[in-house]
Amino acid sequence: MGVGDDASVRARRRFIKAAALVVLGGAQLASAKARRARVVVAGGGFAGATCALQLRRLDTAIDVTLVDPDERYATCPMSDAALVGWRSMQSLTVSRAGLARAGVRYVRDRVASIDAQARHIRLASSKDLAYDRLVVAPGIRFLWDRLPGYGEADSQRMPHAWRAGAQTGLLAAQLRDIDDGGVFAICVPPGLMRCPPAPFERASVVAAYLKQHRPRSKVLIFDANNHFPKQDVFAAAWQEFYPGMIEWIPATEGGAVQRVDASNMTLYTSRGAQRVAVANVIPQQAPGLLAVDAGLASGHGWCPVKPESFESALIENVHVIGDACIAGAMPKSASAANSQALRCARAIVASLREQELPSPQFDSVCYSLLGRDRALAIHGRFAVADGEIRQIDIAQDADQPSPQAQALQAARWYDRIVAESFGT
Ligand SMILES: Cc1cc2nc3c(=O)[nH]c(=O)nc-3n(C[C@H](O)[C@H](O)[C@H](O)COP(=O)(O)OP(=O)(O)OC[C@H]3O[C@@H](n4cnc5c(N)ncnc54)[C@H](O)[C@@H]3O)c2cc1C
Repeated sequence: MGVGDDASVRARRRFIKAAALVVLGGAQLASAKARRARVVVAGGGFAGATCALQLRRLDTAIDVTLVDPDERYATCPMSDAALVGWRSMQSLTVSRAGLARAGVRYVRDRVASIDAQARHIRLASSKDLAYDRLVVAPGIRFLWDRLPGYGEADSQRMPHAWRAGAQTGLLAAQLRDIDDGGVFAICVPPGLMRCPPAPFERASVVAAYLKQHRPRSKVLIFDANNHFPKQDVFAAAWQEFYPGMIEWIPATEGGAVQRVDASNMTLYTSRGAQRVAVANVIPQQAPGLLAVDAGLASGHGWCPVKPESFESALIENVHVIGDACIAGAMPKSASAANSQALRCARAIVASLREQELPSPQFDSVCYSLLGRDRALAIHGRFAVADGEIRQIDIAQDADQPSPQAQALQAARWYDRIVAESFGT
């Protein structure tokens, strides 16, 4: 073997060693990347909080930060019970302590903007946070002035109570002050909205309160639509328990409110002017502004997502979950948000580990209180078919337990979803 041969063997060994180091280095880099992956969650409602907790449950090595300006979160589910004193707002308010216990870093701030190219977000306090994956879950915003006369300031006179907290307290106080014989109006907007059965739950619990305390009063529902979920079940319950107390006026009968005058508590429809004692005006809705400003919303106004992972259909490495996204047939509900968030967390972990996931199924259940000890459940199961989330079965009424049993289930469901979503 000559000198030239030795040199080529040494060169070959050096090449093999270098190649091995490259492979090893690549693997270390990949696993380090997975270990130190940074996921930032913008918004800590049912969707964002569930996702942050689930990421930590699935992989404690992931660095999870949740940003939300509110240290305490008041749940909309059961807030109609708080309106009439069946629950306290305090019992519906959760802190961020459960997140901290699970190792989620909570940052009390507002996400002001997203730089998807550089993969960082800017907070309202001007700090930047870098991410590998961003989950955007800001819920809804209200489209003030879509209804002429109804700007944000008018919600102090005509509360929406469509975000639980101070607004719930305001509407509850107005209900307590109503004179016997006074009208409590609920105005339902057109378009996609959070929890479509909730205005009719609200009508039921308000009627239960009025029946006991102001029996000559009435609930008028001015609806910009022509039907609502489980209409037959609601109508039958109203007939049985609150006869003559609740009147639903669909759009075809002049139910769409065209403008309001908060200074003299008047609603205007094609039927004319209606003065009321209490006006619960629910504004039209769209995703939280952050999602829109970041370019995550499309022409219809909501955020399209890939149904397998809830990654935005418009921006890579950014996921949108909860009320802000458009998830095929799924309703905008806390249980849908929770189900989407669990899947989104699994999909993020799988993608960081470069694993495949089976196709998802989702659940949603919305309980509506019909009275203090009776409720109605609307169940949905969903799966991905042809790239869309479709409903796969609906529980038949015949299979439903009694309204009393459903009221007990509603209370249990509430405790469970709050514990799962916020780690309480
Ligand atoms: C009266 C009523 C009753 C309801 N009852 C039920 C029920 O019985 N069952 C059910 O399943 N659903 C119910 N819902 C629907 C449910 O409340 C919503 O679908 C659910 O809250 C959606 O969760 P989310 O996390 O998408 O949004 P949200 O709960 O609104 O949370 C969004 C969070 O994002 C934060 N945020 C917003 N912008 C930013 C930003 N720029 N930076 C950081 N954080 C931000 C907000 O502070 C908020 O904490 C009800 C709704 C109403 C109004």
